[in-house]
Amino acid sequence: MNTVNKNIFWKAILIATAAGLVGSTMTSCGETVESSHVNDVSGTQLVVNVYNDVWDTWPENMRNAVTYCVSKDFGANYTKVVNSLRVALDDWETYGGFHYTHKSEFDGNCSASTAVTFDVRPVSGQDYLMRAFFPHTPRAQSNILVDSSTFSHPDQAQVGFFRHEVGHTLGFRHEHLEVTGCNEDGQWQRVTTYDAASVMHYPHCKGGTGDIDNLILTERDRNGIAKIYPKYVGPKVYFFKGGQYSKYDMQADRNMPGYPTTILPNWRGITFSSVDAAVNWGNGKVYFFSGSQYLRYDVMEDRTDPGYPTTIAGNWPGVTFDRIDAAINWGNGKVYLFSGSQYIRYDIASDRADAGYPRPIAGNWPGLFNSVDAAFNTGSGKVYFFRGSEYSRYDIATDQVDPGYPQPIAQNWPGLFAADIDAALEW
Ligand SMILES: [Zn+2]
Repeated sequence: MNTVNKNIFWKAILIATAAGLVGSTMTSCGETVESSHVNDVSGTQLVVNVYNDVWDTWPENMRNAVTYCVSKDFGANYTKVVNSLRVALDDWETYGGFHYTHKSEFDGNCSASTAVTFDVRPVSGQDYLMRAFFPHTPRAQSNILVDSSTFSHPDQAQVGFFRHEVGHTLGFRHEHLEVTGCNEDGQWQRVTTYDAASVMHYPHCKGGTGDIDNLILTERDRNGIAKIYPKYVGPKVYFFKGGQYSKYDMQADRNMPGYPTTILPNWRGITFSSVDAAVNWGNGKVYFFSGSQYLRYDVMEDRTDPGYPTTIAGNWPGVTFDRIDAAINWGNGKVYLFSGSQYIRYDIASDRADAGYPRPIAGNWPGLFNSVDAAFNTGSGKVYFFRGSEYSRYDIATDQVDPGYPQPIAQNWPGLFAADIDAALEW
């Protein structure tokens, strides 16, 4: 630390080496630095760690499977730690395709050997505020250690420290690793252009803001996480059955690896034990129905909007159904809602059911089942309906089921639930 000011402002948050060793103090960074110092290096980054010549990031099958505990040894600070870490995680998860799950049942005995991916524990007397680990780090060292000095900072600072540490756990190196005096070794690769204000940049290594109590994700941090942990944006369809869901790749025509999996915690805020119907409204919102209730889900935020679930009754003008079996956006400003042997056409612009509904399915949907479990729109002129162990493809232009249908789900949708799908959703 030699010339580093002993003021807490200068304390190292973390040094993580390329080998994944953590917790060493700042060794080379931190001469006199003012916040007015703009970066003096060219090029670079959010910076991803490279280990054994490959990106040190979570493999796809771990991205929604990382778990952690938070030690009750934090005592009076326990709730603050739990909440600060969750806020920090939510920030990253908003832009990245991953989710960490808090296993609070382990918090009473949360150690380096607890059966979670990593543990969060208090320490004291260290010359760092917090330290973390990289994805490839062995379990015993996969900890976020929080020094007691952390709590002398305001609450929002702790959220910021966790934002930084979570960045390491995702495989990100220090943004300042090329800043003279703050250099770090090892293997790494630049992900975005250099960002002195990055959450991964020590403020005192010629960081843009110089404010250690307000570490936030910058636009380039968000772009970086989205690049390394992409949220899928292509043609995928979600299928729901009971408490599970599957993700189907329409292009590869197969169920994606790792599915089915549980609705929670992957669909945040969906408290339904099962879903009856789901429909993409086309405006960044998705509606899920279950029994007499529904909820609105935000696609970009990847979470249920506040205030939901609520009742269908009173919120869907003209919809007389007490439950919805299937819902589908026709792509022309109309949504069809199915319940039993009937259906209703709903107008998106006027936000109400069209006059003259409900009507019977029979006689109005040539070739279709007389009731449906689930439906989705491919967006390319074809719509799929599911019932029991069968499905039918419906052509929008000819307004009838294509010849040769229905067909069995089992042989035609590899890896998908073979029967009794509750809901389908194009994403
Ligand atoms: Zn760090």
